[in-house]
Amino acid sequence: MSKLIDGKEISARVKARVAEEVAGLKAEGISVGLAVVIVGDDPASRIYVNSKKKACALCGIDSYEYALPASTTQEELLALVKKLCADDAVNGILVQLPLPSHLDEGQIIAAIDPKKDVDAFHAVNVGKIMIGDFDFLPCTPAGCMELIDSTGVSVEGKRCVVIGRSNIVGKPMAMLLLHRNGTVTICHSRTKDLAAITREADILVAAVGRPRFVTADMVKEGAVVIDVGMNRLPDGKLCGDVDFEAVREKAGYITPVPGGVGPMTIATLMQNTATAARIQNGR
Ligand code: NAP
Repeated sequence: MSKLIDGKEISARVKARVAEEVAGLKAEGISVGLAVVIVGDDPASRIYVNSKKKACALCGIDSYEYALPASTTQEELLALVKKLCADDAVNGILVQLPLPSHLDEGQIIAAIDPKKDVDAFHAVNVGKIMIGDFDFLPCTPAGCMELIDSTGVSVEGKRCVVIGRSNIVGKPMAMLLLHRNGTVTICHSRTKDLAAITREADILVAAVGRPRFVTADMVKEGAVVIDVGMNRLPDGKLCGDVDFEAVREKAGYITPVPGGVGPMTIATLMQNTATAARIQNGR
């Protein structure tokens, strides 16, 4: 039976650390603010935005919410992002994705000042991560790294397999593991004999978006298994990409869903916002 990696507990520690950092900045007269922009009424996005607001309150970060109707035009959204870029009270800007399909996400991300891009999705920040000289790390992969670190298992020299190659999870996750001297393989929907590759993984990260996709026969005995997936089942329950009950019998360490990667993503966002405020104020 594997050891559970408790994302709730670890994220609480990260948020406590951020709260201390924010209190320290406040003592120097520096406030920390995060603007969260949500367009439309996607229920999942609404839940994420509410969790982010709660986390801000806990960390002493001022949160500014902009809830725009689904009919918002590209020009209106760009104008808001521009306004937030110029607002000194706003240290971090987060535009909740996905945006309604008539909006061009790439253009909106490109309009965010890289110094306020606390999601680290802007091409400048993506490039900085690639060369290993970065201010912020993308929230979900950075949260996954913290969970891996919590096990005490070193990444150096390990076989690491990431399933998924999205710009927000899979690719940056692979890059972070590479920076830590892991030997990294990225798998995707065209990968042949996926199970043979995942079975070699000492560290396996699943970011696929398919419920219980990773089964026990795909996992090496004793592996660290990080489940990024957040899939809503027909009964409304949340389910990861990993067949948790079966895989926990075989893995060395495993994250649950919920209570694993999700809370870490939000905690890292808080950390990035505090870092942005520090950098913007020359600290
Ligand atoms: P995405 O953009 O849809 O990417 C999914 C990836 O999985 C793609 O690279 C895709 O390959 C690959 N894939 C799909 N079917 C596959 C198969 N049969 N075999 C191998 N690979 C396959 O999703 P994402 O944004 O990265 O998110 C992934 C999951 O993480 C989702 O459940 C999402 O909700 C969750 N998520 C959670 C958090 C959190 O905070 N916990 C944050 C972000 C995302 P191709 O590239 O070839 O299509």
